[in-house]
Amino acid sequence: MRLVHSGKVRELYLDESVDPAELLLVASDRLSIYDVVLPTPVPDKGAILTALSLYWFERTADLVGNHVLGTHDIPEEFAGRAVRCRPLEMLPVECIARGYLTGLGLKEYQRTGAVSGVTLPDGLVEGSKLPEPIFTPTTKAPVGEHDEFMTFDEVVALLGADTATRLRDLTLEVYRRGAESAAHGGILVADTKLEFGRDTDGEIVLGDEVLTPDSSRFWPADSYEPGRVQYSFDKQYVRDWSSSLDWDRTAPGPEVPDEVVTAVRDRYTEVYERITGTPWVSPSV
Ligand code: ATP
Ligand code: MG
Repeated sequence: MRLVHSGKVRELYLDESVDPAELLLVASDRLSIYDVVLPTPVPDKGAILTALSLYWFERTADLVGNHVLGTHDIPEEFAGRAVRCRPLEMLPVECIARGYLTGLGLKEYQRTGAVSGVTLPDGLVEGSKLPEPIFTPTTKAPVGEHDEFMTFDEVVALLGADTATRLRDLTLEVYRRGAESAAHGGILVADTKLEFGRDTDGEIVLGDEVLTPDSSRFWPADSYEPGRVQYSFDKQYVRDWSSSLDWDRTAPGPEVPDEVVTAVRDRYTEVYERITGTPWVSPSV
């Protein structure tokens, strides 16, 4: 198998021994914040993200086709954290849905009163629930740069009205499905990022990872309270920890102490268990 991409968190291998060629998407235990990979791995993170993505791909397949082919013929070293996928031509837009206002979305709202050109009511605060979920796409920045908000019209200019509308509709449908389902486990999905691509027939297909703690913000519903920063089951916890350090958010990232690694791992495990309703069983034991 040939390594074709090494991202911050995942590796992509092309298996040319089958026809048509297949991708092996391998999730590592690496953790990245502010686009910087931290030197300390989080045990089981890759396996949890892989299992959760598979869970969601299955539960959104009636809304949109996805890249998953299966988890057969995975080399031992990648066991539990790799998926066989159809290679897609990825679209150059990060498709984000927001149901609540926080992070860069909140910053943009405070600066302009809108996010991605979607005007929002006055008076929203950290964690506010939006009147309805909104589509706030961003660019996919090259390595070393940060993603920037795009308006819907900019997506239209880039990809055409049909594709832009389809991406917006699908992103909001997948978000709504995820939010409704996660609510059963007491989890609010504040926002989530999806990546779509085109298959060989030109169809728009859901790729990458879906509704994981790396691509989404998950908050416990029972302690939700707008106006303050929420407890989070995702890597926001690590961002908060890093803000106490003298670190300028550029590489190299800081070593993460054991207790923070354990706390992150526990959060990822808890989110998996709450969403799927099944206990997490580590493939590494
Ligand atoms: P970058 O690609 O800029 O390094 P990243 O750090 O987010 O970004 P990872 O998430 O580590 O990258 O790697 C996953 C990569 O694989 C992403 O670039 C994603 O767009 C791409 N990808 C996901 N699914 C597919 C697919 N089915 N076909 C082709 N590429 C895919
Ligand atoms: Mg990624």
